Amino acid sequence: MLRLLLAAPFAVLAMPAHAATGETVNPWVALAYLVAGVFFILALRGLSSPATSRTGNRFGMVGMLIAVVTTLVTHDIANLVEILIAIAIGGLIGVTIARRIAMTAMPELVAGFHSLVGLAAVLVGWAAYLNPGAFDLLDPGGAIDPVSKVEMGLGIAIGAITFSGSVIAFLKLSGRMSGSPILLPARHIINLGTLAAILVLTAFFAHTPGAEANLPFIVALTVAAFAIGFLLIIPIGGADMPVVVSMLNSYSGWAAAAMGFTLGNSAMIITGALVGSSGAILSYIMCRAMNRSFLSVIAGGFGADAGGGGDGEAREQRPYKQGSADDAAFMLEQAEKVIVIPGYGMAVAQAQHTLREMTDILEEKGVEVKFAIHPVAGRMPGHMNVLLAEANVSYDKVFELEDINSEFAQADVAFIIGANDVVNPAAKTDKSSPIYGMPVFDVDKAKQVFFIKRSMGGVGYAGVDNDVFYMDQTMMLLADAKKMVEEIVKALD
Ligand code: NDP
Repeated sequence: MLRLLLAAPFAVLAMPAHAATGETVNPWVALAYLVAGVFFILALRGLSSPATSRTGNRFGMVGMLIAVVTTLVTHDIANLVEILIAIAIGGLIGVTIARRIAMTAMPELVAGFHSLVGLAAVLVGWAAYLNPGAFDLLDPGGAIDPVSKVEMGLGIAIGAITFSGSVIAFLKLSGRMSGSPILLPARHIINLGTLAAILVLTAFFAHTPGAEANLPFIVALTVAAFAIGFLLIIPIGGADMPVVVSMLNSYSGWAAAAMGFTLGNSAMIITGALVGSSGAILSYIMCRAMNRSFLSVIAGGFGADAGGGGDGEAREQRPYKQGSADDAAFMLEQAEKVIVIPGYGMAVAQAQHTLREMTDILEEKGVEVKFAIHPVAGRMPGHMNVLLAEANVSYDKVFELEDINSEFAQADVAFIIGANDVVNPAAKTDKSSPIYGMPVFDVDKAKQVFFIKRSMGGVGYAGVDNDVFYMDQTMMLLADAKKMVEEIVKALD
């Protein structure tokens, strides 16, 4: 949520007013920004658990309200009406998108919003460069201080990388561009060379006096930064996109923080640093969950040599067992312990409410039911937790991968509903698989496996076949997840 809010204050907090001066001398403004910062920290704390996430969201909104109102009332604003109209238009667009967007399209929406934060950083940086007096950036000699120019250059560079990287992530996640990695020859050398060029251009920009003389440097560094954002994301394959989205989230925070330094605005520095560091921590956690190297993510192009999934690859026909809702209901009733593994297909089918109904009936019949959540199940971090919370599944029945994986050996049934990659044993055994190295649920240890998906033709996000379909103890339940669970509920009744 913080990242969505981040774009809004750019417009207000980054106003070209003599405000930067006022703000540093007025202790009440500093105090109000500090209070806003405390609310953001409380927001992040709240967002760390589904049980407290709504409160966390409210804290974030209050913090942002304090920051924006403080800026509006303490600045010498000539164009308040224009600002309020801009806020109203932006707010209306935000509310409309938020109400209409399907949960399954959240990742691309988040990528789209990141691109706006990055673009805002670029525009604010350029505005400060073109009109430094309005941002109170001129020294007594009428030139921009070299330190301010370094902050400006870095803010523009990080913003441009975030923008073009997020646009590519948006195109890949929304299916408008192929999710397969695009590998340029010598891409690591090109990337390193471009990054080095950005640093050198920033140094020249900072040390060349005179707006006319340093214009080519700021233009070149902006263009190089747009290019590197593009180059870093195109080689990343679909299966690794979740980490990319959270990494771009982090970049957008650092872009805001860098601009906060340029403008001398502590609220932007605090918010940017919180978003930047929380995004980096989330990326680190996701890297661990997918067994990827954190450094390779920052460098871009990781996972790209793994073959990029099996998009459209012909697969051999292998024998499998298919069952009906009645078969499943009969065996579920006999079970003592059932572990449910939800995945993206549950979200598509919106089967969470019916699933809860099914597990309630089983519990009434004395069956122990637990839910196992993989960190990258679904299409965004926490996707499954949100859906299960919406269906009022009690949090104490929901377990993370590392807490429940050892329990499959004692489970009578592993009930896989719309999950695929997160239970695929190829991640453990097949070095050529795009998901190799990602920890997965040990469903093969359960006595019986029920696998709900619509057809044998469909594949998971990574586009690879799954040996679990063909195991002796697996029964394929081929149907829309909601429909299948409704039939199981009927049979149980
Ligand atoms: P997968 O994408 O691996 O598999 C989804 C499964 O759901 C498929 O087997 C599909 O088969 C089935 N399915 C789709 N619609 C329905 C339906 N209506 N009813 C029943 N089944 C359905 O999902 P997982 O959750 O296991 O894995 C997530 C994947 O997404 C990982 O590879 C992860 O890296 C990636 N990812 C995760 C993100 C995140 O942040 N969590 C973000 C972006 C990507 P069929 O079509 O035959 O029905």
